[in-house]
Amino acid sequence: MGHPARWDRLREEMAREGLELLALVPGANLFYLTGLHFHRMERPIVALLPREGEPALILPAFEVEKAQGAPIPWRLFPYTDAEGPTSAFHAAAAVLGGRGRPIAVEALGMRVLEWSLLAQAFESPTPIPAEPLLARLRMVKGPEEIAAIRRAIAAAEAALQQWLPEVRPGMTEREATRRLIQACFAAGADALAFEPIVVAGPNAALPHATPSDRPMGPGELMIVDFGVIVEGYVSDLTRTFVLGEPDPETARIYEVVREANAAGRAAVRPGIPAEAVDRAARAVIEAAGYGAYFPHRTGHGLGLEVHEPPYLVAGDATPLQPGMIFTVEPGIYLPGKGGVRIEDVVVVTETGGESLTAFPRELRSL
Ligand code: ZN
Ligand code: ZN
Repeated sequence: MGHPARWDRLREEMAREGLELLALVPGANLFYLTGLHFHRMERPIVALLPREGEPALILPAFEVEKAQGAPIPWRLFPYTDAEGPTSAFHAAAAVLGGRGRPIAVEALGMRVLEWSLLAQAFESPTPIPAEPLLARLRMVKGPEEIAAIRRAIAAAEAALQQWLPEVRPGMTEREATRRLIQACFAAGADALAFEPIVVAGPNAALPHATPSDRPMGPGELMIVDFGVIVEGYVSDLTRTFVLGEPDPETARIYEVVREANAAGRAAVRPGIPAEAVDRAARAVIEAAGYGAYFPHRTGHGLGLEVHEPPYLVAGDATPLQPGMIFTVEPGIYLPGKGGVRIEDVVVVTETGGESLTAFPRELRSL
C-alpha cells in the first residue's frame, strides 16, 4: 500500500472516531504514513494531520529539503535555532485553525516538549491517545511489508548460523554478544532492532537480562535473543542452547518450552482472539507444572517496531486477521539456575499461521 492509500485510510479512521487533528512526532507512525525518517532530538518536529485540508509539518529549517522529498503536500513551518520553535507552532495553528479542540497524539511517543508547545498554540486542553487508531492501520501488514520482515529474518538467521561455531564454554556473555553483532552486520543488517541478549546460567533466568563479563560455564543454558532491521522492518529471534551436556531438568524444561512454542504456533488462525494463542502456549507449561515460571506474555506484534499490537496476552481480544505478524515466545525461568525461551515470528494466513522463522528448534549443544 502506497502512502496516499495509507492517508486515505487514516482519514477514514479519524472520521470514524470524530477526530479533527492528529499530531505525530518522529518515529514509526510518521515513517509509515510518509516514508520520512527524522531523529527525535531536542529540536521538536511535529506533523499535523487534519482530517480535511492540507497537512502541516513544523521542523528545524535545516530539515526542509528532506521534507520536500516526501510524497506529501506539506505546508512547512520551519524555524531556525536562533528563533526557536514557539512561533512556528503558533503560525501552524493560525493556518490549521481548530483552536480549543482535542488533538490526537502518540501517548507513547509525544514528550512534554511537543505537547506543551501544541497545547499553547492550539489552546487545546485534551490530548487523546492515537495508538488504537494507528494500530488499526498498521496491524495488518501488506505484501511488501511481509517481504521486508522476511529479509530481516533471513539476515538474523544467517548471522546466528555464522556465529554459533564461535561460541564455547568459558567465553563471556559480552564477548559472545560482540561477535553476534558483527555477524548481524556481515549478514546484511542495516541496524540492530534492539540490544542483543546473550546470557547464560543464572542470568538466563531473567527474561530481559543484560550480557555481563561472566564466563559462560559448561552445562549452562544460553539464551540468545536478538533482531535486526532491514529496510525499516525488524526481526526478533530467540533460541536457547546448552553449553556442553544438559542435566535432566535442563533437558526437560527445554522440551516443555519447545512444545509450548509449537502449540502456540499451531493455534494461530484468522478469527480467534490474540489471547487464545497465549492460552494455547501457556496451557502446555502449566500442565508440566512450570506455570509459575512463565512470567511474561506469549508474544507481541512486530513490523516497523519490535513491540507493537497485537499482544498475545490474556485480555487482548483483537481478532487475528490474515497479514498480522507477531512473535510466539514462551519461556521457563528457574531462579538461580537458568532459563529457556524459544521465539518465532508468525504471520496469520487465510487458513492458519506460517512461521517466518525456520531456524531449528531442537536442543543443540555447543
Ligand atoms: Zn526477542
Ligand atoms: Zn520478542
